Amino acid sequence: MRRARTIDALSRCGLLSSLALAIRWSGVLCLNYHRIGDGRESLFDRGVWSASAEDFDEHVRFLSSHFDVVTPLDLPEILRRRKGRFVLITFDDGYLDNYQTAFPILKRHRVPATFFVATGFVDNPRLSWWDEVAWMARTSPKSGIEAGRWLSGPVLFDDPDRESAVGVLLQAYKAMPSDSTDEFLGYLADATGSGRFDEGVNGHWWMTWDMLREMRAAGMVIGGHTVNHPVLAQLPVERQCAEIEGCGRRLAEELGEPMRHFSYPVGERYSFTSATRACLQKAGVRYAFSYYGGTRRYRRWDDLDIRRIAVESYMDPDWLRAAVKLPGIFGKAR
Ligand SMILES: [Zn+2]
Repeated sequence: MRRARTIDALSRCGLLSSLALAIRWSGVLCLNYHRIGDGRESLFDRGVWSASAEDFDEHVRFLSSHFDVVTPLDLPEILRRRKGRFVLITFDDGYLDNYQTAFPILKRHRVPATFFVATGFVDNPRLSWWDEVAWMARTSPKSGIEAGRWLSGPVLFDDPDRESAVGVLLQAYKAMPSDSTDEFLGYLADATGSGRFDEGVNGHWWMTWDMLREMRAAGMVIGGHTVNHPVLAQLPVERQCAEIEGCGRRLAEELGEPMRHFSYPVGERYSFTSATRACLQKAGVRYAFSYYGGTRRYRRWDDLDIRRIAVESYMDPDWLRAAVKLPGIFGKAR
């Protein structure tokens, strides 16, 4: 809220434009979305809804009229010339609304975007772990969970939305070794009293290979995001490589081209290591994208850690305009 008011005040007195002129950036600014639509009533993870369809339409209109919107396929040429300002629109995970809602908007504006998919969700559609954790907390008949082996403090279910509780439980999941995550989900099923989400239910959450082929034929770029969406740094090296290679193999089989572009699941600084980078290089990946904010200027470019700024549903089109004009202020790295 405070940030929205700051943006509003800066815009009204014309300071935003003056500042943007004074601090004119150059480089490649990457934005990252997950889902498009209205998740305010969802029992699943509401944090992955990045924008309403109307806001996304406005974002694409604004970006395409002020910047060259490019894809990773343009990066070799951009990096050779090292001048100019470019924007990359990316999506993570492979949610169905990317095809149903975002793709028609992108086509209408003739703007390309890059979609990083976890191939395990396409091949074997099931609820993601972050959506299941949120579902268990929101459908629990209890008022909270006590502290114990898995949680350092009690987690109170903050009704009506239980948004803070979901955030605490997701943080706990992301911080633990991957070997423990199944056990943790079993524990949460008991502790919440919600049980596990029925594996047999296909809620049609994900895009299919046919949809991805259609998007690719229309100029979109499809990249990898592992098979099962683990936090790679929490896995032994051989399993990290298996997640990356398995993802690349399925993309190549279904789309007929090697996986050249990749985004790290969760994408924080702690989510990937030098071993992860080595696996990517072995798998032939040219560019990999993180998710802890910030931008990459030409001077400090890193092919395997291209920073992206998260777009969240509470960030309205004014925020987006401010962020792309002044990414050093509104899109800082964490
Ligand atoms: Zn993801």
